Amino acid sequence: MSHVVIVGGGFAGVWAAVAAARVSEDLRISLIAPGDDMVLRPRLYEPDPEQAALPLRAVLGPIGVRHLRAAVETIDVEARVVRAGGAAVGYDRLVLAAGSRLVRPELPGAERLFDVDTIEGARRLAAHLEDRRDVTSVVFRRWTTSPARRPGGAGEPAGAVLT
Ligand SMILES: Cc1cc2nc3c(=O)[nH]c(=O)nc-3n(C[C@H](O)[C@H](O)[C@H](O)COP(=O)(O)OP(=O)(O)OC[C@H]3O[C@@H](n4cnc5c(N)ncnc54)[C@H](O)[C@@H]3O)c2cc1C
Repeated sequence: MSHVVIVGGGFAGVWAAVAAARVSEDLRISLIAPGDDMVLRPRLYEPDPEQAALPLRAVLGPIGVRHLRAAVETIDVEARVVRAGGAAVGYDRLVLAAGSRLVRPELPGAERLFDVDTIEGARRLAAHLEDRRDVTSVVFRRWTTSPARRPGGAGEPAGAVLT
């Protein structure tokens, strides 16, 4: 039986797993990701970051996809083996969906910046805002890259200003 290995448990990895499971019942499918949850990153700006986490087992279990909870360290494309968390996992097909990660600018004061790139970052910002309830008001400003785009639409940067 052909073994499909997917690296990453975000939108891309999970949808690849769902698509592979739909294509054939004769595939063995494994998804490798270090966390227990699929994090819906576009929702991380919301007040409760926990709402943006969906247990991977809830999606992968019913479609028979195995979740290996580990980070892939190396990929040997000649031998068709990935190494993750001390395990060597052989594959016939590999889907690389390890996503992206914020790069902090090397600017003075950058260590005081907040971000909503990860659930940990969103938790830090939520806790910070909670601690600052005494602040007069929190003003969320949004600005569009195109005037035609609806407020809150995809691709729109959002900024928060404490006043
Ligand atoms: C605040 C915010 C708002 C956004 N809004 C929008 C929007 O409105 N519209 C839109 O289209 N997009 C939006 N995006 C972008 C969108 O969230 C990303 O494009 C999308 O999450 C990318 O999905 P992904 O599966 O490729 O990667 P990710 O969601 O980054 O998932 C990567 C996965 O790979 C795993 N991983 C990483 N390294 C390894 C490793 N070595 N081994 C195993 N697993 C690994 C991670 O743990 C994770 O499970 C937004 C992003 C953010 C942060």
